[in-house]
Formats: sequence, structure tokens, C-alpha cells
Amino acid sequence: MAESGPAWPGGRRFAFTIVDDTDCSTLANARPVYDLLQDLGFRTTKTVWPLAPWRPTFTGGATLADPDYLRWTLSLRDAGFEIASHGATDHSSERADTVRGLDTMREVYGADPRMHITHCSQQEGLYWGAARFSGAVARLYGLLRLVGRRSWRSSGHEPESPYYWGDICAARLKYVRGFGFDSICTSGADPFMPYHDPERPAVPYWFSASNARSIPSFLALLGEANQDRLEASGGACIVYTHFALGFMKGGALEPRFRALMERLALRPGWFVPASDLLDHLAGSPGRGGALLPAQHARLQRRFLFERVAGRDNHLGDVVLRARAALRRKLAPGGARQ
Ligand SMILES: [Zn+2]
Repeated sequence: MAESGPAWPGGRRFAFTIVDDTDCSTLANARPVYDLLQDLGFRTTKTVWPLAPWRPTFTGGATLADPDYLRWTLSLRDAGFEIASHGATDHSSERADTVRGLDTMREVYGADPRMHITHCSQQEGLYWGAARFSGAVARLYGLLRLVGRRSWRSSGHEPESPYYWGDICAARLKYVRGFGFDSICTSGADPFMPYHDPERPAVPYWFSASNARSIPSFLALLGEANQDRLEASGGACIVYTHFALGFMKGGALEPRFRALMERLALRPGWFVPASDLLDHLAGSPGRGGALLPAQHARLQRRFLFERVAGRDNHLGDVVLRARAALRRKLAPGGARQ
């Protein structure tokens, strides 16, 4: 776990942030979580969908078309949280709609988002699925997806695709999430991030995250021993989670979530949004540059090992798939987007 971590601003001993995937998010289930984070001094990254869906959705969740929700995200932004893109809306979007979504975010927030997180069903995903990998691993992952009967395929990086927006991403965004790892110390699992990958050039900079898809895996990741490990490492943790999946229990915040965040808030960490953390991290030795093929191979080897070893928690996926199946059933003729 030892890491010659970068020097954090203000003499802080480690860095910590969260990227919240907006799937299933509503004012009712998300606002209490952010009220707590704000009270405790955390400033994190929340993704949004700018446009209301016009086809059957994949997970559901509020968009900026809801004026109350929009106002709330503006108040978060004003309080120092980062608002990031989760694509135009909760289904696939062709190029013109992706641009319309980004333009809407620019209009609402006064600037383009710095970060984009690919949504699990969007065909405009950039180098998602097997395209994240190189060589034999790419072929193996493609095969595993076939076995898993996941039919959607991302093509946002392929100029001939109607979903292409790689050039727009390169021009208007900075960070896109790539690999996910199980370690609390994201910067230890990925010693290169943020990095540019010349084999996947539409994304200016990739970063990795620590997996915590929903409340069980979040509580496991942020347990006391792991918090201590993160602080001792001097590194950075970027948690990737869905705050809409189980963080509220019977109308109140999950008590252990509250307790763990209260504990972490007392530690000498640098608690800033993910793009700020990555901007700072980019100045550390070995980071912020072009990724070599051997370095990419190292990251994908670890990712694959952790997937095969079964340490990644898929409960969130199970919930999302069940909801998606229900929605498809309720929407006659609604193909998966
Ligand atoms: Zn999503």
C-alpha cells in the first residue's frame, strides 16, 4: 500500500472524492446525501442528464428538464460541487442530440462539463466494452460479453457511427472514466492517471476509479481499516458509486454511511471534486502523460484479474438490470437503448 504520494495542498495527507453516477437519482433520494457531504466539508462530483428522455429509458432518474432538480444541481455547483456529464439522457443519443445535451449544460452552468462518465447502455459510449482493452484481452472480454448476452455496443469513437462524438469530446471535455479497481487507493491501483491513451485518442485524459456501485460495496470500501490504509498511503481515492442505490433507508440516510463519512471528514484529507483532484495529480511524476502500450496492458491485466477473482460487487448492476427489464415490459415495443 506504500505509495510515494504527491504533495497535497495545505499539507493534507491524502485526497478523497466521489463520482456519483446519476442512475435512478431523484431529489428525494439524492439531496439528503449531498446535504450530509456538504455539511461535512466534502466537495465531490455529481453526473447529470441534461435532456428529458424521448425513448424508453434504461434506469430512470431525474434530468435537468425537471426545474426543481435543475435548481438543486445549480445550488450544488454554487456550493463547490462539480457537475459532470452522463451523456445527453437515459438512453442512446445520436451525434446531434449529444451536442444538444452538452449545449444545454453549457447554457445552465455557464461552461462545458470537465468530466464525462459513460452510462451503461449508451451506444455513444467512448471505447467502452471490449474497446477499452487491447490484444487478446479485448477478444476475451468481447467473448465474455457475448456469453453474458449484453447486446449493446458503444461506437461514440467511430467516425462512421451515427453515435460518433469523439471529436466533440476531444474539444469540449477533459476527463473520462476508464478502468475501475477494488482498492481504496485508486492512485496506487493506477499509477499513471490521469493519462492520455494514444490508442484511444478522442478522450483527452482517462482516469480510474475505485468500485463501489451501491451501498454494500461503498460501506465495504470505506470501512475504517480502508480509511486508515488510504491515509497511510498518502494517495488519492476516487470512488465511483450510485447514490440513488440504497444510501437512503426508510426515508433517512443509511446510518453506517453517515458514520463512515463523519469519520473520514475528521481525517486530514483533501476533499475536492474529481476534476480538481486529477488536475493536481497530473503534476506528479509519472502522471499526466501519454500511456505506453505496456502500461495499458498492466492496467487491463489488473482490471481483468479483479473481475475474474469476483471481488467487484455487482449488486448495483443486478438492481439496474431488474429495473430496466421492468421498464421494457411496461413500454410495448420499447427496444433497449
Ligand atoms: Zn449510469
